[in-house]
Amino acid sequence: MHTYPDAKTLVRALAPDEAVILNRPHAAARAARFFVEKFPGRSLYAVKANPSPDLLRVLWENGVAHYDVASIAEVRLVRQALPEATLCFMHPVKTPRAIREAYFEHGVKTFTLDTHEELAKIVAATTAEDGTEASDLRLLVRLRVSSEYSELSLASKFGVDLADAAPLLQATRQQCDWLGLCFHVGSQAMTPFAYVQALERVKAAVAEAGVVIDVVDVGGGFPSVYPDMDPPPLEDYFDVIHRHFEALPIAYNAELWCEPGRALCAEYSSLVVRVEKRRGEELYINDGAYGALYDAAHVDWRFPLVALEDDLRDPLQDFAFYGPTCDDADYMKGPFALPGDIRAGDYIEIGMLGAYGAAMKTGFNGFGEAEQYTVEDEPMASLYRGDRERPVSDNVVSLR
Ligand SMILES: *Cc1c(COP(=O)(O)O)cnc(C)c1O
Repeated sequence: MHTYPDAKTLVRALAPDEAVILNRPHAAARAARFFVEKFPGRSLYAVKANPSPDLLRVLWENGVAHYDVASIAEVRLVRQALPEATLCFMHPVKTPRAIREAYFEHGVKTFTLDTHEELAKIVAATTAEDGTEASDLRLLVRLRVSSEYSELSLASKFGVDLADAAPLLQATRQQCDWLGLCFHVGSQAMTPFAYVQALERVKAAVAEAGVVIDVVDVGGGFPSVYPDMDPPPLEDYFDVIHRHFEALPIAYNAELWCEPGRALCAEYSSLVVRVEKRRGEELYINDGAYGALYDAAHVDWRFPLVALEDDLRDPLQDFAFYGPTCDDADYMKGPFALPGDIRAGDYIEIGMLGAYGAAMKTGFNGFGEAEQYTVEDEPMASLYRGDRERPVSDNVVSLR
């Protein structure tokens, strides 16, 4: 992969005709080391946030040894990129064939479930041809928790309700020597309190089921920094999680896990786009709803951005974007602040697209290709550089 100092240098050298993804391995390395050193337990990387093999190797080299995978394609991908990594199959709805291949061919022992049917499916798919049931399964029951403190909900699709959790935990305990509880508070949780309400639910489930719990997995949801979304320091999240974990009625040697996706890779990538047409306050750019800007179009997510031309003089004004495809839905309302004299042919860098950005590109309408380059400058924002003003986390203080 070619390396450039920054986006401006790259644009001057290449004048790219298509959108380009710029990767910052040093930023992902810093995020990985932060989680490995500071999270009071084990950090699994949630591969769906960005499955790039280059990124996987950066995380591995910086101490992330466990990977949360959700499909057989992700299992194969990570196994190939990182032959020694531990893979955990954390999608609560899997096909029997995917479970079988993961278990027998790729050494996957850890699976999640949220129904009795999925438990039976996992047991059947991991039973040997001579009828011997697997004795080394590590199973986690996914609990439904509230997403009310997060920007993107993950509350409606997966997870057993607290009221139904006890019989499922008891039945799962019968099938494995290593039992866990997991949940996901929703992505971009803007307060550590998100994990408190979830861990309260874990506590109630464990108390009612009366089973030994070997691991509590607090899932993903750890935030990154975006315009108008400046979360409290991650240390506050880790603190609160640790204290509430210690207060659970579980084995003294029980493990604590987390599964960050966004927080590990948001800073890894930015995107360079070109304005192809201007119509008043609307800019037609060459990435959008079917590309790395999926979230900008579909959930009005706002990303930091900067014009890469040196000859723009006007003050900033608000623009909306159209993406490159012929679909009216390929629209991003923003607002995106750029110099008022920006025009067709000008390049823009859009930051913080390493998570759920670079991974979202499709080939719809022929606009999927994106060259990738390495750049050496800092991401537009960072939770890990140590120079951020620390916003106070109100409800953490009140919990202390
Ligand atoms: C998506 C996902 C994650 C990662 O979530 P982030 O909000 O990106 O940290 C972790 N665990 C599971 C089960 C997921 O589906």
